[in-house]
Amino acid sequence: MTDIDELVRRNADFVLDEFLTGLSLTINPTGNMMVIGCVDPRVDPGRVLGIKRGEAAMIRNVGGRITPATLRTMRMLSKVGAANPDGKASGPWNLVILHHTDCGMTDLAPHTDLLAEYFEIPEQELAGKSVSDPYGSVRVDVGIIQEEIRSPDFLVSGLVYDVESGLVEVVVPPTQVPTT
Ligand SMILES: [Zn+2]
Repeated sequence: MTDIDELVRRNADFVLDEFLTGLSLTINPTGNMMVIGCVDPRVDPGRVLGIKRGEAAMIRNVGGRITPATLRTMRMLSKVGAANPDGKASGPWNLVILHHTDCGMTDLAPHTDLLAEYFEIPEQELAGKSVSDPYGSVRVDVGIIQEEIRSPDFLVSGLVYDVESGLVEVVVPPTQVPTT
């Protein structure tokens, strides 16, 4: 087990090596970017996509899925952004959905009761969530964003990370959401 003493030691190294006092990072992501990814320890979005500190907001949940809870979190974050307009970067907002191969979602497929609760849908509709196929599931989730988000200059993409090769594939290229 990695214990707290070890984490505190690593934090001291972080303060010495990486932390920059006075760095003008704002609460708003400097890259106008949000990444939604899986909790899987192999798939840290910051590492696999080389995201710099302060560049993106990240939401991680089981599978990196767009669930009603994810949408609620996004709505809350949009209010935080609106409350801090000064530090907001200009240009389009970039939402990246990052799914991956060998996802634990596949192991959850038999647990239809848990999945139905997670997605807040009847169990009969779970087939539409593509829980065993990351290439299908990013398409499903991009589709949900396109239905739920109404904002100009908002791009959504769907990526799949291959845990064997370390490579990402852009399954859904950056796509604008409808504004009406
Ligand atoms: Zn996963």
